[in-house]
Amino acid sequence: MYDVKKNLNEVKKDLPEGVRLVAVSKFHPAEYITAAYEEGQRIFGESHEQELRQKVEQLPKDIEWHFIGHLQTNKVKYIAPYISMVEAVDSMKLLREINRQAERCGRVIDVLLELHIAEEETKYGLTLEACRKLLADGEWREMKNVRIRGLMMMASYTDDETQIRSEMMTAANFFDEVKQEYFADDDSFSERSWGMSHDYPIAVECRSTMVRVGSKIFGERVY
Ligand SMILES: *Cc1c(COP(=O)(O)O)cnc(C)c1O
Repeated sequence: MYDVKKNLNEVKKDLPEGVRLVAVSKFHPAEYITAAYEEGQRIFGESHEQELRQKVEQLPKDIEWHFIGHLQTNKVKYIAPYISMVEAVDSMKLLREINRQAERCGRVIDVLLELHIAEEETKYGLTLEACRKLLADGEWREMKNVRIRGLMMMASYTDDETQIRSEMMTAANFFDEVKQEYFADDDSFSERSWGMSHDYPIAVECRSTMVRVGSKIFGERVY
């Protein structure tokens, strides 16, 4: 097996207090998750509903699962009973559906709003303008079964550190803006999820509170 335990501990060493690690285990087998679990890791990120469901059945119940990928509204009902956080909410429609399904389960589900700041066209997420509109619209205030915990983004996939840093700082500054405008009295709005295997050290410098690291821990994914 790829040296999951050693890699996990190397990544953890790089993280200051206050930055949590989401170990992104998508496309990796349950044994890899168990290896990380044995080292104390409890938060895992997945992006496919069926794969996640199988892993949830096999693995310990105290794992916190984060859904990190693009989530189709018709899949929400399957994950609503157990998901700890939906990290990539990129539309009002999706937020409404999470609220609806969470209510049916008698739960409150934590979510992050996903920002689109990177240059790549393929990335999902809300533009800053769309995110401002969603919050200004105010419908989210009536949703009793979702709790907006913060923001999430993916920087452009590039070697250009300056660009990565600039995108992450845009997200960090935007966090301050919406925190002040909408969540000043809400301590639970506190999460900034950015940083992946190739850029998490930069993310830490750009005020990330939650890095999502996959291949650096588990090896290359075989799709
Ligand atoms: C796959 C994925 C990651 C992890 O990517 P690595 O480069 O393997 O660390 C992080 N965030 C999201 C949204 C992902 O889909």
